[in-house]
This record gives sequence, structure tokens and C-alpha cells, in this order.
Amino acid sequence: MVKDCATVWRNCLQVIKDNIGEQSYKTWFEPIVPFALKDNVLTIQVPTQFFYEWLEEHYVGLLKKVIYQELGSEGRLEYQIIIDRGDNFNKPQTVNIPTKKVPQAIANSYQPEQHFLKNPFESKSIDRNFLNSQLNASYNFDNYIEGDCNRLARSAGYAVANKPGTTSFNPLMVYGGVGLGKTHLVQAIGNHIKSNNPEKFVLYVSSEKFANQFIESVKTNTIQDFANFYLLVDILIIDDVQFLSGKEKTQEMFFHIFNHLHQAGKQIVMTSDLPPRSLKGLEERLLSRFKWGLTADLQSPDFETRMAIIQKKMQSDGIDIPDNVVEYLAYSVDTNMRELEGVLTSLMAQSLLNRKEIDLELAKGALKHIIEDVEAEVNLDFIQKTVAEYFEVTVDSLKAKTRKKEIVTARQVAMYFAKEFTSHSLKSIGYHFGGRDHSTVIHSVQTVSDLIDTDKKFKASIQELQKKFKVKAG
Ligand code: ADP
Ligand code: MG
Repeated sequence: MVKDCATVWRNCLQVIKDNIGEQSYKTWFEPIVPFALKDNVLTIQVPTQFFYEWLEEHYVGLLKKVIYQELGSEGRLEYQIIIDRGDNFNKPQTVNIPTKKVPQAIANSYQPEQHFLKNPFESKSIDRNFLNSQLNASYNFDNYIEGDCNRLARSAGYAVANKPGTTSFNPLMVYGGVGLGKTHLVQAIGNHIKSNNPEKFVLYVSSEKFANQFIESVKTNTIQDFANFYLLVDILIIDDVQFLSGKEKTQEMFFHIFNHLHQAGKQIVMTSDLPPRSLKGLEERLLSRFKWGLTADLQSPDFETRMAIIQKKMQSDGIDIPDNVVEYLAYSVDTNMRELEGVLTSLMAQSLLNRKEIDLELAKGALKHIIEDVEAEVNLDFIQKTVAEYFEVTVDSLKAKTRKKEIVTARQVAMYFAKEFTSHSLKSIGYHFGGRDHSTVIHSVQTVSDLIDTDKKFKASIQELQKKFKVKAG
């Protein structure tokens, strides 16, 4: 069979995606374009020299493995770097950089684990040694920061990880909003069990993948194989079960697998973005099963936990970020930890790309770049600038220590609007006004409200300013 470069690269990406974080995948692999495949040499086009260096430094092992898996030991990867994009009159200019053949050592050591990836149900007798857990090894308990937000879920998860199937936490259901650490926690459970019990078949699967596999098995008339495969599992970790909502047939299949595994004393771990009682479109009999064990929620991490998450991440990436930047990030991104991670990756990339130290300015840029609504909503910078102009003082003076009357008034008004028009917490507003504490913010908001009630002229100025923010906020 003649393979084409797009197919080969697509297969490579499938494996890569399962082995690295989502953000890294987006940053470093999505922009790559497969260019050619000739004599077992796959040429991929990368946007810059820097990009190529980064891939070679951080992902060389992984790339070699996937190339070996796809093209065998003769397979090689070649990079094509765009050095000039060209225009209507000039063709783009590129250079090609070959890499070495897959070294024998890597080729020898590589265990083809694709049994599950390719077509898990093709053979009747499944060799358990080839089963792939689909776990991402970088998620563990050591790098899962504990805080008030996750204490119950984490300790229940840890108990399950140590005694799968034998605690009363079966099933364990973890729920919480996007980016609060559900996947990380359940993967940590899986990795922990796997390293303590290599003989057990731990399987991590997203509900989306489960549903797609099921649909595929219906199409190809292999439902029985599908079911048999899942019945082999010792620890089933199924992520984002809300995805099964409305999919009746898939739910029915899951219900049977669930019952069978549970009866056999196998551990089941699930996540969902809502508590079971609020999950719409899931059958009652399934929901009632979810409640047999323990349901634990994840809340948004508090400021200190966010700081610790950033620090842990820096540590594992071997980067150094000044304290004021860490604080700024922890204040600014306060719910979705995946966004926080995205900001960090982007910061690292920009710092390397522009050969600049990571500082507050770069961090502010990275935040704008990643979190789109920072720009869309009326932000603190805009409020400070507008209020400062109106009162004819400088933005810096709003953040300074000075207690001059006209500056104090402008500062209080700006804080008042920050409270009204942004989603920043009192603590965060104080932080952005020269590190004042939240009680100062409360006092300012109160003072301005009182003045609006008692001073007509003042009220008129506030209304005038308010219009500017309302227009922007839409
Ligand atoms: P969810 O599955 O709830 O959407 P994830 O588990 O994917 O969230 O978490 C998003 C990112 O935030 C992951 O990279 C994860 O490692 C990180 N993260 C979330 N909570 C924590 C925590 N308590 N400690 C360390 N990292 C965390
Ligand atoms: Mg998740």
C-alpha cells in the first residue's frame, strides 16, 4: 500500500496527541504541515528555525518513536523551514534539514503499543500485554496541588488509587467546571494504580471516544468485540460522562459494562462537568448507579493554590519567572487552570522567540493573547486610563501611595468602576491599584456610592463616565 504524507502524519499526530499536554500539542504540533513522503523520508514544514530547534530539543524521542511506528526502522524525518514566505511574485524560500535514521536502540526498545489505538477489537483473543492504558504519564499525585478546593476529591482519589475496587468509593465520581483538574486527578489515579499493579489493566477513555468506538462497532457489526474488550478492564476511568447525554444506545452499553465491572469488584472512576443530579439526558438507572459510591466536587482554586500550581509547573518545565509575574498571573486567571497553563506556555515561547526575559509586560501581552475576553470586556487598564484622563491625573498616581485629595477621589472612582464593570475580585482590584488590600476597595466603593447619593455634581460626573464604559461593554 502506498502511503501518503498526510495520512502518515495524521497517524503520527494521533499518538503524539495522547502523549503530551493539550496546550503543547496546539502550540508545537498543530502548526506543522506535512509536505512530502519519499523513500521513507517524511518531510514536515515548520514555520521557523526556532520552531525546529524546539521540536528537536523537546520532542525528538517522541518523534522518532512515531516515525518508527509509521515508517519502520528505515523511516526518517526531515524538516522544511520557511525562511521567507514569499509574495505574489516571489516563491517562498525554504531550507530542508534532515535528521538521522531512527537509531537502532530506539527502534529495538520501542514496544508497539498501538493495539488499542489502531483497532482494538479486531482480534478475538486479546493479548493483555499489548493493551494500552491511554494514560498520560505526566499527570500524577505529586504534581497535583492540594487545596481547600479539591481536598475531598483528592483524598478519595488517593484512597482509590491505593486500593482500587475495595474502598466504598466505587464508583468514584469527580465533578467540576472546565479546567479545574478533573482529568489530571483521574489520570493520576490511573498512573498510580498502574505503577503499583503492572498486571492490572487500567484504561483511561474519554466518553467521546467511548461513544465513537461504540458507534463504529455498530457500523461494522462488532458490538460484541467492543463489549468484550471493555469487560477485560480492571480499572475503568471514563472522563466527561456528560458527553453521553442523549446518546441512549451508548448509555445502554455503558450501563451493561458498568454493572459487569462493578459486580466483579473492578474500580470505576468517572468525571463530569456537573453533579449527577443536574446531568440532563442521562438515564435515571445510570445516574442512580453513579451515586452508589462517592461523588466529590472540585471548586475553583484560591489564590494561594493557583500560585502553587504555577510554581509547580515552572519547576517541571525548568523555567524561572519573577515573583511579581507569578502573582500577576495567579490574580488574573482565577478559574480555568488550563488557561493558566496556556499563558505559561505562551510566555515561555515568546520569551525564547524574542530572547527576552519573562517580565510583567510580557505576561500582560501573553494574557491578552490567550484569554480573548480580557480584551473584549472593559478591562482595568481601560478604566484606569479613562478615569485618570477625566480627573486629569496620571494612571501611575492611581497606583501610587499619594493621598492628595484629587488623586484619592480619582482612585476611588476607578475602583468603583472596576467593581461594577469587571469580574475582578476585590482582592484583585486592590492588587491592580498598587497592592492595596480588599478592605480599601470596599471603602472606596462605599464612599463613591455615598457621594452619588448626596452630591448632584459628583453624580453627574459618574454618569458621564459610566456611559463610556457601558458603550464599550456593549
Ligand atoms: P478538567 O479536566 O477539569 O477540565 P484538567 O485536569 O485538564 O481540567 O486541568 C487543566 C490543567 O490545569 C491541567 O494541565 C492540570 O495539570 C492543571 N491543574 C488543575 N488543577 C491542578 C492542581 N490542583 N494541581 C496542579 N495542576 C492542576
Ligand atoms: Mg478534562
